[in-house]
Amino acid sequence: MNRQHVGVIGAGTMGNGIAQVCALAGLDVTMLDVSDEALGRGISTITASLDRLVKKQKLRAEDKDLALARIRPTVSYQDLRSAGLVVEAATERLDIKLRILRDIESVVSDEAVIATNTSSISITQLAAVLNRPDRCIGMHFFNPVPVMELLELIRGLQTSDLAHEQALVFARAIGKSAITVRNSPGFVVNRILCPMINEAIYVLQDGLASAEEIDVGMKLGCNHPIGPLALSDLIGLDTMLAVMQVFHEGFGDPKYRPAPLLKEMVDAGRLGRKTGHGFYTYSGR
Ligand code: NAD
Repeated sequence: MNRQHVGVIGAGTMGNGIAQVCALAGLDVTMLDVSDEALGRGISTITASLDRLVKKQKLRAEDKDLALARIRPTVSYQDLRSAGLVVEAATERLDIKLRILRDIESVVSDEAVIATNTSSISITQLAAVLNRPDRCIGMHFFNPVPVMELLELIRGLQTSDLAHEQALVFARAIGKSAITVRNSPGFVVNRILCPMINEAIYVLQDGLASAEEIDVGMKLGCNHPIGPLALSDLIGLDTMLAVMQVFHEGFGDPKYRPAPLLKEMVDAGRLGRKTGHGFYTYSGR
């Protein structure tokens, strides 16, 4: 097993970002997805992102080439055999993730750490599918991965101290600051952030202020870099609704009830930036 070798499952928004930061940190990356098309999109996104860094003179052209050369796209689990850590960052579906975790465990060594970047599924539940659930840990990256400094590490009930320590070493190696939290719906950051955004939507729905005034209030009054309504447009209102539903069902507490206006916006297809219309309108999607 080689701790310099990291596997990343999924070449989408999060997977290609994770692959990029690992490669820039000098690690050898195997990025696995279901098709060459998905892998091609992931590699193109990484290339464009590295090109931007070169243009801004934050990265030398030769380091860009070295980083790209460290990323090996594949559709075969056999290529993950020597990985010391594999981070699952595929589509947010329980059945897909359970199968992937089993497939990873069938090829890696007994000492390898298996991590998942899920944003809402229980780490304890995912770990339970493994023969060695103690080696499983949540690694919740933030979007965009190359920019956001935080790595939220989530310990499931079974996560060993050793797996946690190895996750901390990995976080340091890729230049992220880690916090460690216990498994619970939404973990910690989204548990605090999403109800705040939901409350901003209630405030708008109650007609207390306009969207612009709510956002200016939170930016200038609380020093937030972006207002909660503009942020929910960025995250996607469908995602916001799904997260609030996870909290509402997971805790059974009415304080997490999704704002009716949020639900109505989603019903209307106003999902934020991705549809060009949310609490604000956006031209040139
Ligand atoms: P995405 O849709 O951009 O990418 C998902 C990728 O997974 C796709 O390339 C897809 O082809 C691939 N995939 C699907 N099934 C697969 C399989 N069986 N094997 C291998 N690859 C498979 O999604 P994303 O936004 O990158 O989200 C990935 C994970 O990260 C999810 O669990 C999500 O909850 C989590 N997450 C997302 C964000 C975010 O802001 N997007 C933030 C934190 C965590």
